[in-house]
Amino acid sequence: MNSLIDKYNIPGPRYTSYPTVPYWDETTFSPEQWKETVIRSFHETNAEEGISIYIHLPFCEALCTFCACHKRITKQHSVEVPYLESVLKEWKLYLELFDERPKLKELHLGGGTPTFFSP
Ligand code: SF4
Repeated sequence: MNSLIDKYNIPGPRYTSYPTVPYWDETTFSPEQWKETVIRSFHETNAEEGISIYIHLPFCEALCTFCACHKRITKQHSVEVPYLESVLKEWKLYLELFDERPKLKELHLGGGTPTFFSP
């Protein structure tokens, strides 16, 4: 039991919103600053430990009354493919910013309900 507590008692990201709250103010943060931040963060982590990727999957079939996440309630699973196409399009934009192949350390899926999507 103690080994489980030790294993998971570490700081972790809170990723219920995308973009994360510090980036919501358009008057103090620009697309160019965002790119600079991505490039700097990539260089700081990719070569040594690898990067972590978070993919927000915002769909849920029903609304939980306590929810504060960025989500869209729907039972229409036809949204899956167009959404994933948009995610892949965004990933290509990031790849254009990187000057070396990303080394993936962690992949986080959040939402929403990630299992809304078919395998
Ligand atoms: S994002 Fe989570 S908490 Fe919010 S409605 Fe969906 S399943 Fe419920």
